[in-house]
Amino acid sequence: MSKGNIGVTSDNIFPVIKKFLYSDHEIFLRELISNAVDATTKLKVISRQPGAVSIPMDDMRVRVSIDKKKKTLTVSDHGIGMTAEEVDKYINQIAFSGAEEFVNKYKDKTEAIIGHFGLGFYSAFMVSKKVEIFSLSYQEDAKAVHWSCEGSPEYTMEETIKAERGTDIVLHIDDEFSQYLEDATIEGLLKKYCKFLPVEIAFGKKKEWKDGKEVELDEENIINDINPAWTRKPADLKDEDYDKFYHELYPMQMDEPLFHIHLNVDYPFNLTGILYFPKIKSNLDVKRNKIQLYCNQVYVTDEVENIVPEYLTLLHGVIDSPDIPLNVSRSYLQSDNNVKKISGYITKKVADKLAELYKADKEDFAKKWDDIKMFIQFGMLTDEKFYEKAKEFALVKNLGGEYATLDEYMDKVRENQVDKDGNLVLLYTNDADAHYTSIERAKAKGYDVLVMDGELDVHCMSQAEQKHEKLRFVRVDSDTIENLIKKEETAKDTYSDEQKEGLRKAFEAYIPQAEKLNYYVSCEAASADALPVFLTQNEFMRRMKEMSAHQQGMSFYGQMPDSYNLVVNTNHPLIQELVEKETSEEVQEEVEKDGKKETVVKTVYSLSGEEERLKQLIDIALLASGRLKGEALAKFVNRSVELMGR
Ligand code: ADP
Repeated sequence: MSKGNIGVTSDNIFPVIKKFLYSDHEIFLRELISNAVDATTKLKVISRQPGAVSIPMDDMRVRVSIDKKKKTLTVSDHGIGMTAEEVDKYINQIAFSGAEEFVNKYKDKTEAIIGHFGLGFYSAFMVSKKVEIFSLSYQEDAKAVHWSCEGSPEYTMEETIKAERGTDIVLHIDDEFSQYLEDATIEGLLKKYCKFLPVEIAFGKKKEWKDGKEVELDEENIINDINPAWTRKPADLKDEDYDKFYHELYPMQMDEPLFHIHLNVDYPFNLTGILYFPKIKSNLDVKRNKIQLYCNQVYVTDEVENIVPEYLTLLHGVIDSPDIPLNVSRSYLQSDNNVKKISGYITKKVADKLAELYKADKEDFAKKWDDIKMFIQFGMLTDEKFYEKAKEFALVKNLGGEYATLDEYMDKVRENQVDKDGNLVLLYTNDADAHYTSIERAKAKGYDVLVMDGELDVHCMSQAEQKHEKLRFVRVDSDTIENLIKKEETAKDTYSDEQKEGLRKAFEAYIPQAEKLNYYVSCEAASADALPVFLTQNEFMRRMKEMSAHQQGMSFYGQMPDSYNLVVNTNHPLIQELVEKETSEEVQEEVEKDGKKETVVKTVYSLSGEEERLKQLIDIALLASGRLKGEALAKFVNRSVELMGR
């Protein structure tokens, strides 16, 4: 038996392992099993070398077992094993040569320590008071070795007897980590980290329900699928295989994915994977299932936020890359060059696939549009490169249910919807019922109306306006039809400003009062067949309010009251009748002119005795835009009945 000190000068390494990795201690199992799988794969490779001596390969499973009495957890493999020299070289020396240097350098930055180096084998000490290695190398005449260490730099190493080739790692679990001696905990961890490892992992025996009891079968319980779909050639897979794998990944997911993208690159980095487009119904169920990240089929994490652009996290599926550093911190990942390239590559692949689907079958793509639009819009808003590609297949939908790209749509309506200043005006609604009157007027003019009722539509419209000069989106109810798309100077009425002011004040006296709601009355000469009084809502203010709902730093707009314009149409006969009924009065008014006070005579118009009619006209305007409710509506109905009886 030999004794020695692990090749590290600092005594501090074990406390570092225990303390700093505490939060993530379960990864020890992943690390040990990865080593066992590596050792197994290495042996398979060696046995395939030309001229290799024949190595028995009938049982290559990695086994995990728990001994509750001895309080041990063991990971066993039949891989290449280690000789005493190798244990010395790989376990005693190498493991810490890098770590020690690192600990010294980052003494005060615990985050960085956790983040930066893969602890591998030594992570076993996070949960164990003692770790033993029993190993027999595959090499001819090798002698088995037993290594033991109790969580201090001191270890012992001696020759031992071991019948089978390979390595057993025996963890004497710390009392405070007794959960790792529970079958359910270990099975859970194996399912999390090892579900798709390339070598079979066995844990206990298969169980079956028989006569109301769970009985153990002879067959071993294999945790993993060693040939997951993403490792196979796309040519060998059918759509059903992709769907089946989707449910393997997300057993709780009922919906089928809309479509998938099989990723496969080997230059300038290695990456395979399958991404699925799920049906996204609302913001709520967006992030329930996440993309899972693997490194050579070993599960790493499903926190992929820093690896793929944020909008891609709406997708489901797996990404497997040996080039993504395993045990690194989030902030480190973000700055890693490989990670940046990977992210760019995935963006390109996803955009290309969507473009391909669009070109192949535009009708089918349009059918799926409502389900994928949130994802594509999110991408366009947050990633310029994606925007450039996506504008070729991002669609808009009009009230008739026709889909087109924005460019196609602009060409379609250009003839009729350019205003006198050369702006192309696109009309839209987010509530066809509420905007019914305005929509009908727009249709009568031969205008087309888009449906923009998605959560990100407001933002996308603003983006499109920034990208296209002379393009404006205007909600169909935001002004009089003449002003929505101003073609020439609109008709003028013959009334004086004083007459209109009298009219305005008369209406103002009866506008409804409500908190956080303002109505501004104005007189305009709209067309004679428009309503006598109607509501419009300023596009800019309304949109700012809508956008503020999603964005920080815009709450100023969110707190503003809703405001509507109550337009009194001086071209309408009913309004003209009211103007005729105005009475005028000469009043003297003091004004300051060039610093001197002067008295001027002004004509002031007013309207009296028309209370009922004014109220009725205002209510009709509110009713037409769906804003007349409750008591106000009841009063309107009663007043209408009375008026008819006269
Ligand atoms: P890494 O796996 O990152 O190299 P580890 O500390 O986990 O670091 O392991 C160090 C080395 O010890 C491995 O590279 C391997 O050579 C050897 N080793 C660990 N576990 C086994 C095993 N089960 N069978 C054979 N060799 C092993």
